[in-house]
Amino acid sequence: MKNEYDVITIGSGPSGLICAITAVMGIPIQQTPLFTGLILEKNEVGSFVRFGRLRITPKWHLMGNDVLNYLMKDVHDAGIVVKTKEEVIQTDLKQAVKMVKTDKNTYYCKKLAVCTGFFPYGHLAGNWKHIRVMFSPIETEVYYIPEETGYSVAVMGGKHGTVDTAVKLKALRPDLDISVIITDPGKEVLPIKEHGFLKGKLFRGTVKVKKEKNNTIMLDIFKQDKKGKERKCGEWAGRYILVNYDSYIHHTQTTSFLNDPGITLHNGYIKVDIQGNTGVPGVVAAGNIATPVSGVVTALSTGFTAGLNLNQQLHQELHNKKPLHFPWLSMDDPDDHPLFS
Ligand SMILES: Cc1cc2nc3c(=O)[nH]c(=O)nc-3n(C[C@H](O)[C@H](O)[C@H](O)COP(=O)(O)OP(=O)(O)OC[C@H]3O[C@@H](n4cnc5c(N)ncnc54)[C@H](O)[C@@H]3O)c2cc1C
Repeated sequence: MKNEYDVITIGSGPSGLICAITAVMGIPIQQTPLFTGLILEKNEVGSFVRFGRLRITPKWHLMGNDVLNYLMKDVHDAGIVVKTKEEVIQTDLKQAVKMVKTDKNTYYCKKLAVCTGFFPYGHLAGNWKHIRVMFSPIETEVYYIPEETGYSVAVMGGKHGTVDTAVKLKALRPDLDISVIITDPGKEVLPIKEHGFLKGKLFRGTVKVKKEKNNTIMLDIFKQDKKGKERKCGEWAGRYILVNYDSYIHHTQTTSFLNDPGITLHNGYIKVDIQGNTGVPGVVAAGNIATPVSGVVTALSTGFTAGLNLNQQLHQELHNKKPLHFPWLSMDDPDDHPLFS
């Protein structure tokens, strides 16, 4: 079948890359790939991870760029096809051969890995100088906002806590010109009436960068009309976007293409077992989309486990037996391996 692969991985963050490598190459690493793989990424490879210092401990960090470059070398050597700027918009997981539709193409696979993370602003990765992701309460974050009068700030995030964050910021820095951008879809009325300073400055929709010039970033804000077409509904220009990272702990938006009843979503997150299995045979999930713990170590670890799981499944289907695993204890019956028995 045209466009068919053994494994498709959605997302090219740390979890998606390592999952794809392990699914195709297996452990022990083979000289040649055992299976065919495709990675679909809606932004650039790794999105924002490329620009980050990934702290492992308070004093030790890895450069995101290095992590991605090493992984991409292995992806390339494994012959895995990578398509960027292709967003997965629909899946059909009912059959043994699964359908994955993007905004450009339709693909088919025997196994699918969902590694879409929970951070929905990868497309803003190139604009870091204007963006600060909040990892601390606003009382701490406020110290990073320069003390200049007339400074325009947009507090952006999902609906959880984003307006409240803006209100607290206004109390701490009354001089700031503050707007709010809620990027969650949904129709709930927001509690904004009592906050007069937000009048006419609360936007709701998805954002795209229109222009970045000198110290100003300009955003266009879009909403879907009844026919599902994107329509511009607002614009914002300012110096600084403060991302309410915390809001995505309460609801992520990166699984909207999944509607199979076999997949259990909780606030947009995917429920999996310890091997990364979802409720649909042949479909795994890994990384931030499936774990409450955010971080590159967890992403790599769960991606590796889920990839190995898919590799075993493919191997079993092709050769009617499980592949061997390091340490090579039981040559006859891999089920005797102490980890599995
Ligand atoms: C600013 C910032 C700083 C951080 N600092 C640290 C740190 O210091 N230490 C640390 O350990 N962790 C840090 N993290 C967290 C760490 O980056 C994440 O835990 C890790 O990247 C998660 O990996 P992942 O592969 O699960 O998801 P992601 O890295 O989020 O990758 C998911 C990928 O899927 C793509 N995608 C999503 N939906 C679709 C779709 N429909 N179709 C196609 N592609 C799609 C996205 O564009 C993205 O590239 C930080 C995160 C941020 C935002």
